[in-house]
Amino acid sequence: MSIPSENAHCQYHPRAAAGWFCPACDAKLCPDCTVLEEVASTGLLSCVRCGGAAEEWKVHRSHTPFSRRLLGAWHYPLKKSGLLALLAVGAVVAMSRGLSSILPFVPGLILLTIWLGSFWGSLFWIVRSTSMGAEHFTAPDFHDVHHDLVSPAIRGTVATALIWVPALLFFFKANKLEGVGAVFGVVVLATVLYAPMALMFAATGQGTLSLLNPFKVIGIAMRLGRAYLVVAAWMVPLALLHLMLMFVAAKVSSLSIPLLPSVLGEAISLYVPFVMARMLGLLLYVHGDRVGYGVDSEFYEPAMPGVKPRGKKRAARVPAQARAEASHPAPRQRFIEMEPEPAPRPAPTPEPLEAQVVRAVETNALDRALELYRRLPENLASLPAASHVAVGQKAAAVGDYPLAVRALKQVAQLTPEDPLAPRACVILARLYGERLGDEASALKLYRHVAGRYPGTDAARFAQSRLKPA
Ligand SMILES: [Zn+2]
Ligand SMILES: [Zn+2]
Repeated sequence: MSIPSENAHCQYHPRAAAGWFCPACDAKLCPDCTVLEEVASTGLLSCVRCGGAAEEWKVHRSHTPFSRRLLGAWHYPLKKSGLLALLAVGAVVAMSRGLSSILPFVPGLILLTIWLGSFWGSLFWIVRSTSMGAEHFTAPDFHDVHHDLVSPAIRGTVATALIWVPALLFFFKANKLEGVGAVFGVVVLATVLYAPMALMFAATGQGTLSLLNPFKVIGIAMRLGRAYLVVAAWMVPLALLHLMLMFVAAKVSSLSIPLLPSVLGEAISLYVPFVMARMLGLLLYVHGDRVGYGVDSEFYEPAMPGVKPRGKKRAARVPAQARAEASHPAPRQRFIEMEPEPAPRPAPTPEPLEAQVVRAVETNALDRALELYRRLPENLASLPAASHVAVGQKAAAVGDYPLAVRALKQVAQLTPEDPLAPRACVILARLYGERLGDEASALKLYRHVAGRYPGTDAARFAQSRLKPA
């Protein structure tokens, strides 16, 4: 891993962005100064200047402007998966609210739990999956009634209690108070600053009682610093938009067709909460390391994702003919090549699947790596741990949990001595605990990491998860 750096530019081309690093030259390198060659079907990075091994230059996730990531949150519920989620949750909420008039024998508390549980549960799910890198809404697995409905209903209500209880008291007493305007202002400001943190806290599985401890909640908000204030500031226009959408939703719901309008109305009024949850998840995705949410190394990503080195090895080192065949026909426009391209020289015999996986991971073509990995047999000790981990993380990000579990388990079982093994175990534990609802397996793995790999980042994180909240 490299140290994060502002303005990483190529040592030799000061105007070109750097995506790699040569430890021998102590220089950052642009795509033209880095060579990617295949040796024994493995992509090998080297430095054009000295020929020494080069490595990928990684930067902290905060390197991408946070405000740009937040803008993407507006779009999140409008993607196909997001729209389906809006409708699905909207339907559950609409039915639990509408059933009480049709089915008077269903106790109100059950319907209230379904309503609040599906509402908060879906928001918490968005926060958690976003914090782990999910690019779009993935359907959560329904685990059991307590885990998926009762618990989110309670947590959402308790987390926001410090906001709605004073607000309620205030509105009941308002007519007797002097300076109502000023008090109202304080309540709104406190809500804006406090609510996002309380909800993030509730979403990430802190103990229910600690949700009521404002000192703990505010302490974590302070550690998130400016980024937290940016998210809090977004809550104001979002809340205004929410009021407008609620008005639209009320109009839609009042159309005189049965069921459909109320589902649409609920879906419309869920838009803003979905955007808010996405923003909170992004805050954890980018800055979670400041509050001990995740392993430090997870928070670094390639400085030039999807860009491939274009440098050519110097002619003296390699036969000229082979180079000429391998080199690109003409200078290409930079950054256009985001998709994996076909191998420059088709091998006479098809390349083994394993080697293709390794190469796809090396060149960051992770979608391709996933597709190839699915076709591999299990228990392949010959595949490097880095490939298993990369595939596991990508599979988790796109919601293919069985594949993610399979890939990460391989590291723990086949190469427990690999430096990547503790990290793989932690990612796997989080997958169990936060996505699959299998708390027991998660704890077992955290205990394993803490005992087996003491002194590592992963062990420290595992310890923090084992402590009672
Ligand atoms: Zn070098
Ligand atoms: Zn350069």
